[in-house]
Amino acid sequence: MALRATVVRFPSDPDAQESSGLPWGVTVTPFASKDENGNSPVYGSGGDLIPRCENCWAYYNTYCDQDQWAWTCSLCGTLNGLSSETIARYSLPESAPENMSSFVDLELPLEGSEEDMQARPVYVAAIDLASSEEFLELTKSALLAALEGSLFGLATFSHKLGLYDVQGPIPVVKNVFLPQDSDGTLPIELEDAMPLFSFLAPVETCKDRIASALETLRPTSSWDGTGSGQGLDRILLGGRGFGLAMETLISYLGSEHGNTFALARIFAFLSGPPDYGPGQLDTRRYGEQYASKGEDAELALLPEQTPFYKDLAAVAVQAGVCIDILAVTNEYTDLASLKFLSIDSGGSLFLYPNTDDSTLPQDMYRMLSRPYAFNCIMRLRTSSEFKPGNSYGHFFPDPQYENVQHVICCDSYATYAYDFDFENNHGFSRHTSELPMLQLAFQYTVVVSPQELPTSGSGLTSRSKYTIKRRLRIRTMQFGVAHNINELYDSVEHEVVLSILVHKVILASLSEGVREGRMLLHDWLVILTAQYNDACKTVANGYGSSIGSLIDVTFSQCPQLQPLPRLVFALLRNPLLRFHEEGIHPDYRIYLQCLFSGLEPSSLHRAIYPLLTSYATPDKLAYPRHSLSRAALLTSESPIFFLDAFTTLIVFYSSTADPTLPYPPPHDCLLRTTINKLKQERSMTPRLMFIRGGQEDPTPFENYLIEEQDVDGSGFASVMGFVSFLEEVSQSVLEYMK
Ligand SMILES: [Zn+2]
Repeated sequence: MALRATVVRFPSDPDAQESSGLPWGVTVTPFASKDENGNSPVYGSGGDLIPRCENCWAYYNTYCDQDQWAWTCSLCGTLNGLSSETIARYSLPESAPENMSSFVDLELPLEGSEEDMQARPVYVAAIDLASSEEFLELTKSALLAALEGSLFGLATFSHKLGLYDVQGPIPVVKNVFLPQDSDGTLPIELEDAMPLFSFLAPVETCKDRIASALETLRPTSSWDGTGSGQGLDRILLGGRGFGLAMETLISYLGSEHGNTFALARIFAFLSGPPDYGPGQLDTRRYGEQYASKGEDAELALLPEQTPFYKDLAAVAVQAGVCIDILAVTNEYTDLASLKFLSIDSGGSLFLYPNTDDSTLPQDMYRMLSRPYAFNCIMRLRTSSEFKPGNSYGHFFPDPQYENVQHVICCDSYATYAYDFDFENNHGFSRHTSELPMLQLAFQYTVVVSPQELPTSGSGLTSRSKYTIKRRLRIRTMQFGVAHNINELYDSVEHEVVLSILVHKVILASLSEGVREGRMLLHDWLVILTAQYNDACKTVANGYGSSIGSLIDVTFSQCPQLQPLPRLVFALLRNPLLRFHEEGIHPDYRIYLQCLFSGLEPSSLHRAIYPLLTSYATPDKLAYPRHSLSRAALLTSESPIFFLDAFTTLIVFYSSTADPTLPYPPPHDCLLRTTINKLKQERSMTPRLMFIRGGQEDPTPFENYLIEEQDVDGSGFASVMGFVSFLEEVSQSVLEYMK
């Protein structure tokens, strides 16, 4: 559970917060195994026994004052009595984890329904047959690489839904016609077409037959001319009844047939937009986006065109089914409408523009080999002077309780954010002895595989069974208070500031368009720069034109703020906020929005402002960090550059590199080790490229050298990117300060 704040010392009151120009909030990565400093929680039992404050319901923690009979809540100051059971428990030294650490991870007893759950993970692959041979090949390799230890179901969709039984001697498929005008029901219930227990097969005994069933898959385009009299098939060829297929699969897996799975995931392999039956999407709006003159063309494609998938996501959440969308297509697929199905249900959204260099098999493998927490409930509590304001990320709010969020499924990377408001005008000033407190409680379920259980000699646990564990993770943190604005600026964490900004900018672009999102970001930097200059009193008031040269746009007195102008510039140059005219596909923008709004701050930093290092040889690092500018490259004289842009890794040999340097870098060198380590640690598989300058096209690499590029992409060759951006910000600051 990592928790990072935009400022380590909180603003003292609303005025201080307002006048700083800084966002005030935190990012949380609840299922990360360590905290932001690399410390593990204290594990233990008795999550249900921790005393809770009768006023604010915070959990007892190491910051609470405790005497023999009572404790004082460190969040709200309420004096609570201790039960005799707790007194007895706490009288033994080191007996309770919550007395040993402010970061604990505790077992909870299972509730009735959880005990009856089928603990084994259930994975269903739903494969688009209105696709191509290449798409099916890629899907097969992705699945075969990934499946281990699960119950697996294979389904296909086109204008029919195909269910496979792979448990007999040869795989059998049952096809159910998907009616074009269905109200969500099928001519035959899936359970009647094939009982769920026939559909879900244990992978370890059926892997060969799953493989041979996958071998039989053919795209619908190859179905004609088989002489089987499927006249109707030929008419409906190419139909992609994705919406109805998902709807019926969700209810098939859902609890209404008496099967409750601890974790059920559907991997939806999609090769284009749903164009048939319920949930079909009108892709004409892609061509028509410029038709409405005067409107923001980007805005036309950002909102969903139908609530179908958002509503369906709610059904999936209800049924406890998580859906991952794996789209392999360069066709307009309207991910803006589809995305809810994955992000609301705790799944991922992947977009691969082609089958050739797709990392789909590696991504599948990663997804299935990492641990997940599911049925999570998250609650952030604060001390009384302030409260959570907006919350950001792929969770959904509890319908009843404020500041309670649900996450169906999350991995150790999934990150969420909150910003704060003051409860009143006094801020933290009145009680100078009371420091701001935060407490994040995260309740979650994990499936423990047989191998992970301790094999005790007594044989008490049945070793062949998966088991379900419910746990409660609690982290309580104390923050400082900044006594003046300089202290506040000195305590800034620029990566966390960037995270909150990215969330705000994505929300603004979704509701008001990309142009508005860009303006919001630009204005934010102008206001911050103005407030900073005001605080530093570097502006000599009232001296007319001489003021301009005195605006400090580089935050020269505050190292913590210095990265921000560059990050804002880079964010404005990121495909997330660039225009369609610059070649940004709307589906790619949606994919980036979904990706970026779930990343933890350092990963996001890398995605926005890639890390460029240089090497003297594949085994010797030259410089650990370069700015992303051509000039920096030319002056460095290093022969090898390595760029990490989070989703892409590029090794670039300069055209003047010594031709005796091995290319591509050999497998045992330092550069390769670095690359492999990065790939290992990342939530998704980055694409790796090698480019030899002077012999191969350097464009993919040079596109990342943004600092000489014009900020809004429409610029003149004479404009010098980042430098002129700073000048422009300086002008805007002057206008703002007037
Ligand atoms: Zn309390």
